[in-house]
Amino acid sequence: MLYLTRRSEFSAAHSYRIESWSEEKNRAVFGLCSNPNGHGHDYQLDVTVAGPLNPLSGIVLNIAEVDRVIKEMIETELEGKFLNREHPYFQKHIPTTETMAVYIWKVLETKFGNCKLHKIKLQENDNLYSVKEEGELVQLTRKYHFSSAHRLHSHHLTDEENKKLFGKCNNLYGHGHNYCLEVTVIGEPDPITGMVVNLAELDEIVDREVIKKFDHKHLNLDTEEFKEINPTSENMAIVIWKLLSPHIPSLYKIGLWETQRNYFEYFGPHKGK
Ligand SMILES: [Zn+2]
Ligand SMILES: [Zn+2]
Repeated sequence: MLYLTRRSEFSAAHSYRIESWSEEKNRAVFGLCSNPNGHGHDYQLDVTVAGPLNPLSGIVLNIAEVDRVIKEMIETELEGKFLNREHPYFQKHIPTTETMAVYIWKVLETKFGNCKLHKIKLQENDNLYSVKEEGELVQLTRKYHFSSAHRLHSHHLTDEENKKLFGKCNNLYGHGHNYCLEVTVIGEPDPITGMVVNLAELDEIVDREVIKKFDHKHLNLDTEEFKEINPTSENMAIVIWKLLSPHIPSLYKIGLWETQRNYFEYFGPHKGK
């Protein structure tokens, strides 16, 4: 099986509101997104199709055909529209990123002939995207940033072994990174709010449990969590999972960019992934 991905873009406006709710309740649940006049985004849509190689042509499916199908959907349904007002589905379902990903999946699912739709990634902005894969519930990923110093040093190894293993990252006084944390939840979008999780609540939990503890700190010296544990990105992903999972039942994955060249993922203690 081979997988090919085509990236497209579109702009659309929307508003997160339930008209039968009071203004206060809309504000409380949807925050700034509840502005009745709307706001908008430049969306980025990655569509991945999967299929066997045609040995005669050397391709899976003509990428121009993939593009034609996606463009047709975008141009008739999404591009340049105010979704809540102009789109029949989004007049009834709040166009959150995750609800849009599920909808786009349903529209495109049967459109690629012998190839299967494998994955859809819809990015609303640099810090928010949703992924829908075949046979899976929809995922929503929010990105957060923090800057910390650390020293890679294991209490289980000798000073010599630490120096040999971690090199300059073992520097006595530490060094630092701009960490990018991805928190991914998975679930069924709520039929009323269209959300897998309430983003304002998620932000508050991550800020309280992670960002306030680690941002502009020396992990080894300033935090309880890494007094004994070596603050490698692997350990940080596990620690962050432990901090967040009691508060976020739908937590699916912790992704941690240590630098733009190092990325670590942890799916929790019970997932064999
Ligand atoms: Zn929005
Ligand atoms: Zn480092």
